[in-house]
Amino acid sequence: MQIPMVDLKIQYHQLQAEIDEAVKAVLDSAYFILGPQGTAFEQEIANYLGVKHAIGVASGTDALHLALRAAGLGPGDEVITSPFTFIATAEAIAYVGATPVFVDIDPKTFNIDVAQVAAAVTPATKAILPVHLFGQPADLVPLKQLCDDLDLLLIEDCAQSCGALYGDKMTGTWGDLGCYSFFPSKNLGCFGDGGLVVTDRDDLAEEVKVLRNHGSRERYHHAIIGYNSRLDDLQAAILRVKLKHLDRFNMQRRENAHRYSEGLTKLGLVAPFEDGKGVHVYHQYTLLTDQREAIQKELAAAGVASAVYYPIPLHQQEVFASVCSDVSLPVSESVAEKVLSLPIYPELTADQVDLALEAIARAVAS
Ligand SMILES: *Cc1c(COP(=O)(O)O)cnc(C)c1O
Repeated sequence: MQIPMVDLKIQYHQLQAEIDEAVKAVLDSAYFILGPQGTAFEQEIANYLGVKHAIGVASGTDALHLALRAAGLGPGDEVITSPFTFIATAEAIAYVGATPVFVDIDPKTFNIDVAQVAAAVTPATKAILPVHLFGQPADLVPLKQLCDDLDLLLIEDCAQSCGALYGDKMTGTWGDLGCYSFFPSKNLGCFGDGGLVVTDRDDLAEEVKVLRNHGSRERYHHAIIGYNSRLDDLQAAILRVKLKHLDRFNMQRRENAHRYSEGLTKLGLVAPFEDGKGVHVYHQYTLLTDQREAIQKELAAAGVASAVYYPIPLHQQEVFASVCSDVSLPVSESVAEKVLSLPIYPELTADQVDLALEAIARAVAS
């Protein structure tokens, strides 16, 4: 038995009849860009998330980029974010000419350490961009309080947290703007690239809509330089089918995660921490260990994939060397050496989880 990090075929085959029909309907309609499927999906996901506006864009990276531009961020502005995330979070800040300011993370949740955020605010700070890493919501109440007190924007990177609640509200709906990715392996994934910006603010929603469509408010009238960044109707049709199952998918991820955690705890290993402030949707299942290499070796021998997300924090990336030359973020640096992600997807079976646990037990025993 081979267990990959993620198996996208199983989910397609489970939903194949529904998805094939939806795709065929789009092909027959020949309405591919900014058509009725996109509009219907935007409405449905806005209802699901409990937010006024949802605007489909071409990727999660574009969602962040367009959100930051819509918010008016640019050169000279600082955006506080986490160094322990996928590069796209900080790339988007750089795209608009702003400067990412990395603040260290909490060693248990892997999310930005709220206690350290206030100290990083300068007169140039315009926004805070928390990432709900691996599907665990960042601590949004104090972050929102800080943003309200200091008149900063709160922009959430929800690429890994689609369907995750913080308190009784979805991640992405606490801040001024929420940004989602529908990359195929994300909790809600399409069959190509896709993304979404959500907001309750009419002005920001309007701005994102204009930006995604060549800066055009009215056809062939262009007041600003925009982008070609739309979620196409084929992807929207597929996402409409999958959205109906998202809560179940996330529940299955959680069940698998809890089975892993029970087994790992018995082995004396550090399982992911749930802080109880929200619902972790386990985009990744990530443990902390000093025996990473040995565990990966045993897993591989048993046919079980594993991966390191992320081996190099962003402040140590070559691309940010000039803005981070004297930055030291010890928690991120130490966590990057100890994290190990195990296969997790809704269709993973209990037997497969047990197989992975047995391999880990062998590594720990030797
Ligand atoms: C996947 C991801 C993105 C980028 O999304 P794309 O759709 O791949 O552009 C941004 N931030 C985080 C945290 C991600 O995991």
